[in-house]
Amino acid sequence: MTDKRADVLVIGAGPSGAVAAKRMAEAGMKVVCLEQGEWPDRTRFPGDKLDYELTALKQWSWDPNARRLPQDYPIDLSESELIGIGNFNGVGGSATLYGGIWPRLTPSNFRSHTLHGYGADWPLTYEELLPFYERTDREFGVSGLEGNPAYPLGAAPPLPPLPVTKGGMRLARGHARLGWHWWPDCNAIASVDYEGRRPCVQRGTCYSGCNEGAKASPDLTHWRHLVDRGVRLIDGARVRRLVIDKRGLAAGAEWYDRNGVGHIQEADLVICAANAIGTPRLLLASANERYPDGLANSSGLLGRNLMLHTWAMVTGIFEEPLESWRGHRSAVGCMQFYESDEARGFVGTAKWHLEPGAGPLTQALPAPGLGVWGDDHHPRVAERLGHTLTWAITGDDLPSEANRVVLSDNLQDPSGFAAPKVVYRVADNTKRMFEWHVERARESFAAAGASKVETMPHVPVGTHLYGTARMGENPGRSVVDRWGLAHDIPNLAIVDGSVFVTSGGVNPTSSISALALRTADYLATHRSQIPRPERSRTFALTPPGRAKGYGISEPAEAPLAFKPAERERLAALADKLIPSGHGKPAPSEVGIGEGLLDRVVAARPDIVAALRRALQPGSGDGVSWLQELGDTDVEARDALEVAVAGGYYMSAEVRELIGYPGDEPVPVRPEAYPPYFEEGLLDHLLEN
Ligand SMILES: Cc1cc2nc3c(=O)[nH]c(=O)nc-3n(C[C@H](O)[C@H](O)[C@H](O)COP(=O)(O)OP(=O)(O)OC[C@H]3O[C@@H](n4cnc5c(N)ncnc54)[C@H](O)[C@@H]3O)c2cc1C
Ligand code: SF4
Repeated sequence: MTDKRADVLVIGAGPSGAVAAKRMAEAGMKVVCLEQGEWPDRTRFPGDKLDYELTALKQWSWDPNARRLPQDYPIDLSESELIGIGNFNGVGGSATLYGGIWPRLTPSNFRSHTLHGYGADWPLTYEELLPFYERTDREFGVSGLEGNPAYPLGAAPPLPPLPVTKGGMRLARGHARLGWHWWPDCNAIASVDYEGRRPCVQRGTCYSGCNEGAKASPDLTHWRHLVDRGVRLIDGARVRRLVIDKRGLAAGAEWYDRNGVGHIQEADLVICAANAIGTPRLLLASANERYPDGLANSSGLLGRNLMLHTWAMVTGIFEEPLESWRGHRSAVGCMQFYESDEARGFVGTAKWHLEPGAGPLTQALPAPGLGVWGDDHHPRVAERLGHTLTWAITGDDLPSEANRVVLSDNLQDPSGFAAPKVVYRVADNTKRMFEWHVERARESFAAAGASKVETMPHVPVGTHLYGTARMGENPGRSVVDRWGLAHDIPNLAIVDGSVFVTSGGVNPTSSISALALRTADYLATHRSQIPRPERSRTFALTPPGRAKGYGISEPAEAPLAFKPAERERLAALADKLIPSGHGKPAPSEVGIGEGLLDRVVAARPDIVAALRRALQPGSGDGVSWLQELGDTDVEARDALEVAVAGGYYMSAEVRELIGYPGDEPVPVRPEAYPPYFEEGLLDHLLEN
């Protein structure tokens, strides 16, 4: 089936696709966007729900390999050192789940090779990108404080800054004492009403969607307006490959709808915005007789030079109650040590952002196998809940051709299309960088008065994706030109993080969006010079296959099917994991085997089968069974721990006793923010 022809076809409805589609539509072009995911239903975002922490681990996970929704695709990590790649597939893209932290690359990031001998120089400068940064700041409604000395001057962020939280003020005072940089971070989060978006209420649940609509997600900032203006956004549309005309020009895409029916969408111009994993996957999967190694791959670099931001985490624990489960994802940023300095034993730029703490389930069970149970349980949760803050540190990942995206032989998505496989090794430079920064972050927490500091020097998770279709002047050393157009195919543009030459040390989306706008601006103004593919061709469909090596999460058994004996066993085991004491009741006393169990399994039907194994007859009710389970059936033990802690911390009585009000919204009032100016906490930076 061939659908009506478009002037422009955009693949992917995340930030980059949204920005490009808007500019193309403003230029009067007929735009169609194909997005494999769904329109988000904001009422289903979990942040304002009692079971938020439970569903954030599964249905709303950042990790598609954990979510396994029908619109997701798996990512083969069998040849990588990573434990996860983060994304979200839907209208809004990964920005549905992102933190909205919105820093810019610095001028040096565009010239790292010339200045510091690492990576490669970009074919453009910060100054060239600046007007696009300022335009996209307005499109996304960015809040922030003007004058950050870490950036060259430019227009002030369009919205006033978000509050510096109680904990943020602690760190700000510490940094003022040390004479170090700190700054209220720029965030694509409304601090006041903005274009129909309500201001932030500090729930801290941004990583699983923002119920308020305060966080700029392209479904709100772009797509709803674009659709009103006639842009055609087709959701549930999984693109399998691009189609090519006889002259080798991009002519459109072959895609499949939710019912598995194939379509061809023809277009004069094709824009890939599927992110730095999804775009190379698509271009590699589009290999044909003319382009046997994939589209736009004459350099052999398509998919290569994959850069990710893996993380180091340094957590300070404070005696003072900070209510640190609240707050947007970054109240404070630190760029004291941003610029590269080889004398430190590594190269590259790195930024820190201050993450709030988390709710009680996450404090009790930070990851499978890491829960603290028995008599130490209550003291651990009491020490942490509302008392922790984390410096999340990320920095330049050096481009390496060995780190790459290829097509998986073993995994296919729910439509039967080859999944991307990520081949990735963490660079020694990254390890040295994190070790050094972790020590500085310890000093920061010491200056802020933390009573304890805990470190995770390397968390091998990639949520910032770059480099797999590098931009450059030389077609032998890059995939796209300085405007984002493929060297090999002049009517194919790439606007996502694939085009980055170096990653820099800051969160990417502000720069991805500015670059997407710059490319779209170029396309709109040079439209007449871009060759058009032939019209009226009939492209053959290649029928999809079946998913391989990947199961979609299906609702498990009916939640209420637990028998009384199983419920009793759960209560007995729960009391061993979380014994009464320290003024807190045992789980059996608050109904863990009754209504709370039903709530847990209604939220997490995926754990029912494993939980049932943990509660099997003859399992006993003691510590030895818990030990045996840990040795013989880790999945069952994990399910038991999730059910017990998840249920216990949903109890209203327990929440009251631990002083946790859950999802209570606290509207921000810019006029009531802590007086960091009056306290002189920025004086040392402003003087310079
Ligand atoms: C948990 C998390 C937290 C993050 N926090 C931050 C942050 O605070 N600040 C920041 O700057 N960045 C953050 N990021 C990264 C940020 O989300 C991305 O940089 C940004 O979304 C990239 O935009 P994009 O449009 O290029 O790609 P994406 O947002 O990934 O969108 C790509 C879209 O393409 C669609 N697509 C892919 N393949 C196909 C296909 N074959 N057919 C049809 N559709 C397809 C996908 O479904 C998806 O919707 C975070 C990411 C995650 C996962
Ligand atoms: S903290 Fe603010 S931006 Fe984040 S989810 Fe809550 S309201 Fe949205």
